[in-house]
Amino acid sequence: MTIRELIDKLHDTNDLSSDELKELLTNCDPANEAYLEQKARETAVAVYEKKIYVRGLIEFTNHCRNNCLYCGIRAKNPNIKRYRLSDDDVISCCEKGYALGYRTFVMQGGEDVFYTDDKITAIVTTIKKRFPDCAVTLSIGEKSRESYEKFHEAGADRYLLRHETADEKHYEKLHERNQSFANRMRCLRDLKDIGFQTGCGFMVGSPYQTIDHLVKDLRFIKKFNPEMVGIGPFIPHSGTPFAAFPSGSADMTVKLLAIVRLLLPYVLLPATTALATVDKNGRKRGILAGANVIMPNLSPADKREFYSLYDRKACTGNEAAEMIAAIEKEITDLGYELSRSRGDGKKPDTARKMLKSEI
Ligand code: SAH
Repeated sequence: MTIRELIDKLHDTNDLSSDELKELLTNCDPANEAYLEQKARETAVAVYEKKIYVRGLIEFTNHCRNNCLYCGIRAKNPNIKRYRLSDDDVISCCEKGYALGYRTFVMQGGEDVFYTDDKITAIVTTIKKRFPDCAVTLSIGEKSRESYEKFHEAGADRYLLRHETADEKHYEKLHERNQSFANRMRCLRDLKDIGFQTGCGFMVGSPYQTIDHLVKDLRFIKKFNPEMVGIGPFIPHSGTPFAAFPSGSADMTVKLLAIVRLLLPYVLLPATTALATVDKNGRKRGILAGANVIMPNLSPADKREFYSLYDRKACTGNEAAEMIAAIEKEITDLGYELSRSRGDGKKPDTARKMLKSEI
């Protein structure tokens, strides 16, 4: 099959074998890449029209008990100022966000033992009470099934937990021994089973990553069938063991976004801050390759620099939640529309009609 035929097959069947994905990742020339992105863009528009969903990202703690080798807020990095937001700070962020039009709040943080299940549950409950028309997403790492159940009962709607890599050996190269691939997978299964809208995802160009790993990531995503997928380039952080590794490529990230859109037409797919950090046109390129979500930073401005997952992380300009007017203009100029709804994912049954009539 030619690359063009592979792209058509992916578009028509929303599936490709491992060998076919490898061929597509390895031998796609610029003309076919443009075709791939066009097909992904058409698919996103068929399901989500030209709406781009927006989420306010609240980075509420940079304390972490873990030591992911890539991550700047790892416990063993002594050179960052640690902070925690109080419940009042979090609610102020939500108030600010609500006034700006945000209807989803993403609470992300390191695995901070200070936040017991009761504390998380209390914050979620307060947010849902104060802002009943908003969705709450948690992104606070690996917990027991019981903890996830409590968060869900408290009203959390969504949970982001990137799988990071679908290859166990590669996973071990990115993490310390006390973190296991098996537990990461257990968490993802539990989250889905409990009823969260669940997000997995991975970094592009993480150290030791091969094309075969990316193929595994794509096959895993197809099989797991998550509601959300977060994909961004790896970017080194000076205070980590991976400081000297190069950043992942924007081109490869955009290509993978397009493939994921075609594998899962209904998925919520952010154009990530990391992509915008490695390429100033990253957000636009992501949207034009099928991304339909953006997550501007709603953390207090004086804390943003300390949530340093990687060096030079963008948190100003159009990555800042308060710049909603400029963000909206960026989206409008691209021919899209910023949606101020909760932005839940569409389901195949409700979207199918649209797919059939518009493609
Ligand atoms: N503690 C939470 C949130 C982690 S930060 C959890 O474990 O899920 C969110 C994501 O940022 C991570 O899942 C990882 O994929 C990404 N990230 C961390 N360090 C990064 C780096 N150096 N470059 C790019 N992305 C990174």
